[in-house]
Amino acid sequence: MTSTLYTDPTPNDLLASRPSLRMDPRDGLLFEDVPVEHIARELGTPCWITGAGTLRRRAADLKAAFTARDLPMSFHFAMKAQDHQATLRILKDCGYGVDIVSGGEMARALAAGIAPEAIVFSGVGKSDQELRAAIAARIGQINVESVEELYRLAALAEEAPSSDGFRIRVTLRVNPDVDAQTHDKISTGRADDKFGIAYDQALSLYVEAQKFRAIHVIGLAVHLGSQMLAAEPFRRGYERLAEMVRALRSQGQTVEIVDCGGGLGISYRDEIAPAPDMLAGVIAETLGGLDVTIGLEPGRWLAAPTGLFITRVIETKAGNPARGTPDFLIVDGGMNDLARPAMYDSWHGIVPVSPTLAHDTLKPWHVVGPVCESSDVFARNRPLPTKLQRGDLVAFLDAGAYGSVMSSTYNSRPFVAQALVDNGRWSCIRKRQSIAELIAAETLPDWL
Ligand SMILES: *Cc1c(COP(=O)(O)O)cnc(C)c1O
Repeated sequence: MTSTLYTDPTPNDLLASRPSLRMDPRDGLLFEDVPVEHIARELGTPCWITGAGTLRRRAADLKAAFTARDLPMSFHFAMKAQDHQATLRILKDCGYGVDIVSGGEMARALAAGIAPEAIVFSGVGKSDQELRAAIAARIGQINVESVEELYRLAALAEEAPSSDGFRIRVTLRVNPDVDAQTHDKISTGRADDKFGIAYDQALSLYVEAQKFRAIHVIGLAVHLGSQMLAAEPFRRGYERLAEMVRALRSQGQTVEIVDCGGGLGISYRDEIAPAPDMLAGVIAETLGGLDVTIGLEPGRWLAAPTGLFITRVIETKAGNPARGTPDFLIVDGGMNDLARPAMYDSWHGIVPVSPTLAHDTLKPWHVVGPVCESSDVFARNRPLPTKLQRGDLVAFLDAGAYGSVMSSTYNSRPFVAQALVDNGRWSCIRKRQSIAELIAAETLPDWL
């Protein structure tokens, strides 16, 4: 049900389609039955809230779609989407490993109690130091992104001491030259994108790579892009991998693993988002009969709906009706905290927290942050309660993926606090950085 006055869904429309959120007539917005207002009062604003129950439910739903089709799967959460150790621990308990893209993420995952065998290392530009650390930790798999990286990894693995004949498991990440039909900045599988080994090269490289004694090349990987809503790009990408598996086997090669990457999208606004069953179906049809273990590296689909970004209105500022400019809602969170709208033109749902605003009439607002950049705009002409005023709380929805992890301290704005809610209870899981901490690492040379 969308308002006829606006093309954007209204706050009530947004809440109706999000089972973890509810407007209570007395306590206002509840996230997993915890009043958002309580958390904002205790931790201050802006702050992030992560929903543990929501995450567990999504982790189970995703797995169930693949179990229903009897596919041999391994699931690795792409932790760049949300890297707090609490998130990793919850997903570990749901049977997920992690997909990392840096040495820092590896250290975090190990600190959270993720077993080394349950870690997959993806990403373009892994440093020698990061690769050495991954080999030493004996992580489960490294997805190699180029010919050059393969040779470098093989040499580093050769140098690493191993008395028991351990060989690090490697896949070749193929660039299938498929357009993911998503935002240009989150597309990764076209020939001109920086990711993966060219499709035409990958076959001969796979054969050649078997000569390296210190690594064990066991399969292929692909990651097409993010926030993908259509089946066709997945199907085309996975068909190309299936072709490659058959070609390799016809040359006597062994292929044990096909890592399908992540990319499954969600409905932020009113997009028709596919259920995980769509992806499971495409994978079953393209790769199901090949007798390979199928890896999946979901990030956004699992994490996005588990996160709220809570801000308080600093001020409202009158617009210019003659020019068609609506009033501005200036909130205390900025693009340094939630970067997605400025970076990818992303649309995030925004809802008031107070129960008294829930039934107010709506008017269009420009919702902006305090950062001194014209791109620090969260929403334009967004239908929100007319009576919104200084001091009111507003929540940004679906901010659990690529939200807190992309924060910066631009404008000397410290990293903000984070809470975890879990079906009625909550805890602070990251304290707000102080200004003193923010500047503590700086030194002044004595010649200044
Ligand atoms: C970012 C990334 C993912 C996760 O993508 P989502 O769109 O968040 O599911 C998975 N695999 C690789 C290699 C990635 O870079």
